[in-house]
Amino acid sequence: MKRKTTKKTPDRYVIGLDLGGTNVMAVLVTTSGKVIDNLHFPTEAPKGPDYVIENMAQNTIKLVEKNGLKMKNIWRIGIGSPGPLDSKKGIIMGAVNLPGWKFVRLKEMMEKQLGTAVGVDNDANCAAYGEAWLGAARGKANVVGITLGTGVGGGIIIDHKLVRGANYNAAEIGHTSLNPDGRVCKCGAKGCFEQYASASAIAESARERIRKGTRSMMTEMVKGDLGKLTSKVVAEAMEQGDKAAKETWDEFIKYLAAGVANQINGLNPDVVVIAGGVINAGDLLFVPLKEAVRKQTFALTFAAAKIVPAKLGELAGALGAAGVVINEGDFYGM
Ligand SMILES: [Zn+2]
Repeated sequence: MKRKTTKKTPDRYVIGLDLGGTNVMAVLVTTSGKVIDNLHFPTEAPKGPDYVIENMAQNTIKLVEKNGLKMKNIWRIGIGSPGPLDSKKGIIMGAVNLPGWKFVRLKEMMEKQLGTAVGVDNDANCAAYGEAWLGAARGKANVVGITLGTGVGGGIIIDHKLVRGANYNAAEIGHTSLNPDGRVCKCGAKGCFEQYASASAIAESARERIRKGTRSMMTEMVKGDLGKLTSKVVAEAMEQGDKAAKETWDEFIKYLAAGVANQINGLNPDVVVIAGGVINAGDLLFVPLKEAVRKQTFALTFAAAKIVPAKLGELAGALGAAGVVINEGDFYGM
């Protein structure tokens, strides 16, 4: 069969970076979404913003040259960063895990170092965008991404576009309240989603039960060191029939379902993508979650909303950062 040789815009190369408190993930992709290569390196956050930015620039060059390219072949660079931040100007206002980052002009500094147009956005937004662009919600118009980790990260895509809000701080799903009289959150509010349904919240709820004297095989599993109790330990103990683990897990599902149902009722998404190590629990997570969400949503909105595990793993943020600068360059003044 003869192939059409008429070409549209040729594929261009783009770099995506995901700046984390511990590691930076970098990816080299094409504008059509072909993933060429990736590289990760330690952030070395205690050395401060100037060092971290220089290091990111050097590693970007390394990734580019390793693939037989030069920086002039790179069309755009996207960076996912912890916030709060001004994504329009590419300024990081502050970040809990990045000491010394106060009003850091990340976009400007990276552009100066590399001579390529840079766009910066919230890391959780980028992770959700990555799943919508190339992952579990590929091609879907209305997507909610929820990452369960130490906290809960959120990202919302409506009509294929990232929702940023009035001053670019939308989609803080982890800080929507599930209980106005509940646990005090790091943000100062009470009963935030992440206080009940993050990976660390699962572990903390299990510890609370054990401290109150509930007998559980989890105590032996961590050899008495409750600091080593993780959501994975809870899931494993539950599979072996541990009662305290089962109660902890059921409580987690109850809150997670309420949080997911809030998003479904509010936004009527096509897909809700759940990310984080907890998704390795598979059916133990998704079967009861869907059932509980069903009870708290309208039949039609529930029918539209697939609830699925993320596909891109630790590459989601970097791929999404590349995706937003490819598809939404106008926003960043590119
Ligand atoms: Zn909060």
